[in-house]
Amino acid sequence: MISTPSKLPGTGTNIFSAMSLLAEQHQAINLSQGFPDYDCDPKLTELVNEAMKGGFNQYAPMAGLLSLRELIANKVQHLYQASYNPETEITVTAGGTQAIFTALASCINPGDEVIIFEPAYDCYAPTIKMFGGLVKPYVMHAPNYTIDWDMVKKLFSANTKMIILNSPHNPTGCVLAEKDLQELIKLTKNTDVLILSDEVYEHVIYDGQPHLSVSSYPELKERAFVVASFGKLLHTTGWKTGYCIAPSFLMKEFRKIHQYNVFSVNTPMQVAIAKYLEDTSVYTALSLFFQEKRDSFRNMLAQTKFELLPCKGSYFQCVTYKKISQESDVALVTRLIKEFGVAAIPLSAFYSRNTDSYVLRFCFAKKQETLEKAVERLMKL
Ligand code: GLN
Repeated sequence: MISTPSKLPGTGTNIFSAMSLLAEQHQAINLSQGFPDYDCDPKLTELVNEAMKGGFNQYAPMAGLLSLRELIANKVQHLYQASYNPETEITVTAGGTQAIFTALASCINPGDEVIIFEPAYDCYAPTIKMFGGLVKPYVMHAPNYTIDWDMVKKLFSANTKMIILNSPHNPTGCVLAEKDLQELIKLTKNTDVLILSDEVYEHVIYDGQPHLSVSSYPELKERAFVVASFGKLLHTTGWKTGYCIAPSFLMKEFRKIHQYNVFSVNTPMQVAIAKYLEDTSVYTALSLFFQEKRDSFRNMLAQTKFELLPCKGSYFQCVTYKKISQESDVALVTRLIKEFGVAAIPLSAFYSRNTDSYVLRFCFAKKQETLEKAVERLMKL
């Protein structure tokens, strides 16, 4: 028998795949994995078809189509007053996860410590470990999941290589405030600590709040990889397209990995996205679109026994369930799928230590009728 040691011994199939599979097996309404159950704008698929018929079917440049990189440069300049050179500081990626993987691969060496904020999106910790890095979690608490920066400071050591931010935050729906970014500026000043800022929900932020991008703070920008997602912006998660922006000294290393990982991202989608986003109202319309869904979903959920946590951004609504049961979040989501026909994500999946969160995450990027049907079922609890 051939055997080989696992590079990720404690890791199984990720929670999104596991929950979506279980939902399918039990024909449950899937509010677990974050993806829309409605289609994207037909104009966008039309543009992809046109690109394919127009012969854009070979490799795109390794860093991405120049017209798309120029469009990204204009966007971040306009929205965040941040200047990035499309030639050397912007790379189109096969989605946010690949951008995060590549950023970590390009700078994490054995023994490097990376500070993450838990609950943390599921790919951070395993990717850090894959390259010999050590995860230093700062644990945030419900309901507001705020950060005490004096405590974060205590996690800093001579080996701190990077700090990973995520705002709007998946899974909690919280957003960083100006004060958080100012604290981070103070903490990282005169250090070589890098930042990886996962901003894939940048255009999904509510109640008129502006998105505070790391790219708009020069002291942070100079040390940061910022990751964005076209899947979230365009309701096309299956196209696996996003991008990473970073100062050239970081982007140079990023591309060394990117070129041997995906090499380049599918061409027709890039052609179509570059055309489609000439209409900049796409960015501004998204928050309002999801705010309606958030409000409606929250109003409906308020009639159940779940208790709502705040949702300031992202398309996720978290709830606690003390009035329903004392069971673990994993036990409850399993029962919800099997007995009530609704799938959710248990927040314990986003912690490195084995702790129960007693919190569930629902995705509301769904048709109104899907949400209504799901809540009808949740009312029975
Ligand atoms: N980002 C999505 C979520 O949080 C899942 C993406 C994935 O399945 N890897 O649900």
